[in-house]
Amino acid sequence: MRTIELLLELQDLEWAVKSPSAAEKKKIDALRKQIPPPILGHYDRLMQRGRKGIALVRHGVCTGCRMRLASGLYAQVLRGEEICLCENCARYLFLAPEERQAMEEAKAQSAEAKPKAAKKRGRPRKTEAS
Ligand SMILES: [Zn+2]
Repeated sequence: MRTIELLLELQDLEWAVKSPSAAEKKKIDALRKQIPPPILGHYDRLMQRGRKGIALVRHGVCTGCRMRLASGLYAQVLRGEEICLCENCARYLFLAPEERQAMEEAKAQSAEAKPKAAKKRGRPRKTEAS
């Protein structure tokens, strides 16, 4: 699992559950152990201020602060290889699941489609009348 997915799961647990049961606490602890401390630290600081640490990205916009992401940052979020922070609200950014799915479907389709030969344009050459 990617760190951002662990964070999201942690947030879901901690945000929704006011008084976690023993089983939920165990799960929270297990998640926290898998997340690198600096990332967890930043997440905790946001949560302590009563803010969600993670914001979904939809149509290139951070849903936490409704600011449009810079195109370079958005490209990073789309790649999903590294953890990205919103430049405006400092939340961790996570591509909305339906957008990730759409992107993966598009990728699968383009992989299936065979490269088309460039269509030849232009009219057939006229044979020169002699
Ligand atoms: Zn933001």
